[in-house]
Amino acid sequence: MHLVLNPLHNRPSLVPAMTTKSLPSSDLRKRLREIAKILQRTMPSPNMELDHRSPWELLVATILSAQCTDQRVNQVTPSLFRRYRQPAELAAAHLPELEQLIRSTGFFKNKAKHLIACGKAVTERFGEQVPHTMDELITLPGVGRKTANVILGNAFGQPSIVVDTHVKRVAKRLGLTRSDNPDRVEQDLQRLMPESQWTAFSQRVLLHGRYVCLARKPQCRICPVYRHCPWKEKGPQ
Ligand code: SF4
Repeated sequence: MHLVLNPLHNRPSLVPAMTTKSLPSSDLRKRLREIAKILQRTMPSPNMELDHRSPWELLVATILSAQCTDQRVNQVTPSLFRRYRQPAELAAAHLPELEQLIRSTGFFKNKAKHLIACGKAVTERFGEQVPHTMDELITLPGVGRKTANVILGNAFGQPSIVVDTHVKRVAKRLGLTRSDNPDRVEQDLQRLMPESQWTAFSQRVLLHGRYVCLARKPQCRICPVYRHCPWKEKGPQ
């Protein structure tokens, strides 16, 4: 795939060079604009639900949020951040103690290892500052493209599209992508809208998936984008 260098933050975008064949139809763009407008009206401030006071805290909270609710993570992080204030302190954590602190978030053994390794990497390679490029972020233990996009968009104000399980599902139901591959979904959404809308739109789609377009029982009756949803299995309104 040919990568285009994004001059705004000097990182490779996933957007491939456009070909006429890959251009989305004007109908699709128009539909997306309508969906974006409605979601903006219904969710004017699509707030990140993970509590944090710094890029480092957001990074830790995002690693903990894998396979776990934001509410649960928010119950754990206050005591975690009191015990380990800086990346270097987490890097030196006693593994069993850290495991106990984060146990309720699930997969705590792996998460504890990742947090200690991440604390070490941020301390040793980045002077205790969370890096702010995609290329650097994804070198950190426990950090993939999704987590990196959370940090870029919410901690550093850079355009980013977070593709989690909700965004993937909703984007597909709304006909904005045909793919189940998160990287491909990210590309498809990037291609459909200007960078300035990426972060807020993907956060709105995420919240829409979390609270309305649920995996098993989508709440189509109350869905604000119902008439723009082409999903054949959608319920009545
Ligand atoms: S109409 Fe139903 S399936 Fe379509 S986006 Fe809304 S909640 Fe999801």
